[in-house]
Amino acid sequence: MCKHKWIVYSTGLINRCLMLYCNHCDVVGTVNNPTRGEWSQAFYAPRNQYTWKGGNDRVTIRHPKKCA
Ligand SMILES: [Zn+2]
Repeated sequence: MCKHKWIVYSTGLINRCLMLYCNHCDVVGTVNNPTRGEWSQAFYAPRNQYTWKGGNDRVTIRHPKKCA
């Protein structure tokens, strides 16, 4: 089982979620309840991907790549 190392790579503009992928297994997930600070930080994610530090329990695994 992969423990998932989540990387924030984009945002979903319509549903206000963060888009993440796992650096180990490539699965895609979303954070559907980002805080104001998390949302602001993710604004730059398409050009500047970074490791998600909010905890794996807040990530919802998605297929295909879109918000809820
Ligand atoms: Zn994984």
